[in-house]
Amino acid sequence: MTTEYQKPLPRPLSPELTKPFWDAAKRHELVMPRCQKCDHFFFYPREECPRCLSPDIQWASVSGRGRLHTYTIVHQPVNPAFHEDAPHVYSVIQLDEGPRMISNMVECDLDDLRVDMPVVAVYDDVTPDWTLVKFKPA
Ligand SMILES: [Zn+2]
Repeated sequence: MTTEYQKPLPRPLSPELTKPFWDAAKRHELVMPRCQKCDHFFFYPREECPRCLSPDIQWASVSGRGRLHTYTIVHQPVNPAFHEDAPHVYSVIQLDEGPRMISNMVECDLDDLRVDMPVVAVYDDVTPDWTLVKFKPA
C-alpha cells in the first residue's frame, strides 16, 4: 500500500537505535528486539532488556499477526502533517509474540473496529526512504 503525503513527516528521534526496525519495514518485514539471555521480545527498542536488564539484544522477525488491544479514532490530529489522514485509527496492537506496539489500523471501516479483533501487519511506503508498519483486519 502507498499513501500520498504532502508534508514534512515526523522522523524517528533515535534512528541509530531503531534502524533495524526501519530497515526491515522497508523490506516489508516486521522485526522486534529480543533478549538473548531471557528470550523476551519487547518494543519499543531499548539498549537493555526491560525484563532482565541484559544488554545482549538481537533483532528477530515476528509474524506481524496479533490483536487490536485498544484504539481511538483521531478526528483532529495535533500534528498538521496528519490532517489529511483524519479520521485515522490510533491503535495499540498486541502482537502474537508478546510486545505491544503503537500503530494505525487501516483497510477497515470504522464501524467494524472491535477490541481483540485479529490483525495483520501491512507496510505503507510513505516516502522512498521510509515505510510505516500499520495493521489491517486479518
Ligand atoms: Zn532479558
